[in-house]
Amino acid sequence: MVNNNRNNVIQLNQSIKDREVEIELLQRTFTEIGSELDLDKVFQIVAERARSLVQAETILIPLLDENCETYTYRGGSGENADEIIGESLPLEFGVCGWVWKHKRPWWQGVLDELNENERNLWEEQAGTMILVPLQGRQHFLGGIAGINKIGGNEFSRRDLNLLQMFASIVSIAIENAMSVSMMEKTRLINDDYRLRLELLNKQLLDSSKELEYLSLYDTVTGLANRSLFHDRLSRDISHASISKKPVGLLLIDLNRFKEVNEALGHKNADLLLKKIAQRFEKNIRMDETLARLGGDEFAIILPSSDKEQSLRRTKEIKCLLDDAFTIANMQIAVSASFGIAVFPSQGIDISSLLSHADAAMHHAKNNAAGICLYDPEHDQITQRSQIMLADIRRAIAEHQFELHYQPKISIKDNTLVGAEALGRWSTREHGTVSPDNFIHVLQHNGLLSEYTYWAIETALHQARIWNKIRSFRVAINLAPQTLMDPDFPENLDRIVGDVENGNHLTFEITENLFLSEYDSLKDVLEHIGSLGIQLSIDDYGTGYSSLSRLIKLPINELKIDKLFVKHICHSKDDEVVVRSTIDLAHNLGLTVVAEGVEDANTMALLKKYECDIAQGFLISKPLAATAFHAFLNDHESRRD
Ligand code: C2E
Ligand code: CA
Ligand code: CA
Repeated sequence: MVNNNRNNVIQLNQSIKDREVEIELLQRTFTEIGSELDLDKVFQIVAERARSLVQAETILIPLLDENCETYTYRGGSGENADEIIGESLPLEFGVCGWVWKHKRPWWQGVLDELNENERNLWEEQAGTMILVPLQGRQHFLGGIAGINKIGGNEFSRRDLNLLQMFASIVSIAIENAMSVSMMEKTRLINDDYRLRLELLNKQLLDSSKELEYLSLYDTVTGLANRSLFHDRLSRDISHASISKKPVGLLLIDLNRFKEVNEALGHKNADLLLKKIAQRFEKNIRMDETLARLGGDEFAIILPSSDKEQSLRRTKEIKCLLDDAFTIANMQIAVSASFGIAVFPSQGIDISSLLSHADAAMHHAKNNAAGICLYDPEHDQITQRSQIMLADIRRAIAEHQFELHYQPKISIKDNTLVGAEALGRWSTREHGTVSPDNFIHVLQHNGLLSEYTYWAIETALHQARIWNKIRSFRVAINLAPQTLMDPDFPENLDRIVGDVENGNHLTFEITENLFLSEYDSLKDVLEHIGSLGIQLSIDDYGTGYSSLSRLIKLPINELKIDKLFVKHICHSKDDEVVVRSTIDLAHNLGLTVVAEGVEDANTMALLKKYECDIAQGFLISKPLAATAFHAFLNDHESRRD
């Protein structure tokens, strides 16, 4: 009896101690997971504590998935737990489904309630497992399963009660941690959406910027286009009218760009436009606007510039084209015509300024400087451009054209060895029109051949007279079209007739011609040679042909373009081009002429490089026939 009582007391003490341990464990668990928001850590703690609480080999935490059709082992501790965690199973599968369905714990005591099927299925393992539901405040969450009691015993009711109590405490913590995790997930999704939204906005912004760019900038050169240019001009005009300041408007039109386009091809011509734009752009001031208005036309707005300042600035800008451009290993010389109109004296709105600058620009095409400030006279001249054609027809009929002659001298001994005949047209209406312009008009109106035959006749006539005084050839410039005229050989025979006359003449042909018409020209060039006429390649260096290709043609002379000659004292590059061209041409048996010799230093350098012939303002400007005659007599008398 005493023993019995003692045993009872010992048991009671043990059970009180167990209770204390259990309560302590529960409390510790509660504080630990109460402050833990990381769901995986919560599962970890719960599983470990549950395992010590019911002395299970393994604890698993199956949780109902969002779809309510499956459950997934989200946490666990003990034997094989790691392998099972993460696995998902259909809800109807196994004990978990039963617990979910009945919202009651599973243990061996429920076996009696099962139907026969279930009982047969689970009876064997019934004692090795308990599963208590995890019921949150709002949802059924899943359960905590204990598998295999340590020591091989079966789970008791007490274990079940303990685990149930434990589950009811931790379920709230699990639910909280799940909500936090859900919130975190939605926050991440939100962040993700925000980022995607930002990205989309940025893309939208970029494409609208691109659209804006495309609508405001020229795609070839990247310069402002006509529309942005109008905007800027209208802004600058309104600022200027408030501050009572002038605004200069400069229009730039490239000369003969159509020919460049044809010779170079569109791709290279675009590249050239781009390079021209870049050169302008590098030198443009902060307050100025540079734009490409289309084709070969550029414009620059010069804020706060009156007529004089605009003119000065235009001269600076024009100088930017002095150096040739390198395109596909070729040196391309570019020139342009510049027209200026100034706000407010020469136009108070965009359209009048533009049309006046345009008139000035067209006028500039006919003056040597290539720059022109608007003058009301220009309007009349523009109107008269229609009349120009009629005038030019009359000029041919009435022999209004003239040839001027520019001496070519031997660099070695300063003696006259030739002359170049250059066309001149002076009229009361148009003043002196540059051959660069009227040749163009003639050419485009099918009148060039007639002019050229007249020029050959006239030059030959002079040459025969002058050859009585001194033997030298007179050179005539031939446009490509003339050579390709099928009637040309016959007409040449008629005008020149024989070698005696032909020996007085040279034809200068620009090298551009040989680019495409190489083969078809061979016959006509040989015919020219058969008449004793020499052939000279003009403007060498600005075109696109290689010397090795040219040499296959029956040519005698190479004229290095003034663009290169002009800079040999200052530009190493040009010096190299000129020197190597002279050497190469000599090796090929050609005579070399340097055109555009304007100063003694250049002449000295050319002498050093053994260039044969010089032509240029240093020696003489082109002279009218009578003046040239006097020059010749003077030259001869000095030699005597
Ligand atoms: P081009 O054949 O290159 O003729 C040389 C040009 O350079 C001439 O211009 C001449 O006056 C100019 N010049 C001569 N020495 C110097 C110098 O020291 N410095 C500078 N800066 N320039 C100099 P021009 O007379 O205005 O002729 C321009 C172009 O018109 C000629 O260039 C030629 O291509 C063409 N041309 C002239 N007359 C005729 C012609 O009768 N028929 C054809 N088809 N073309 C012609
Ligand atoms: Ca020439
Ligand atoms: Ca030339």
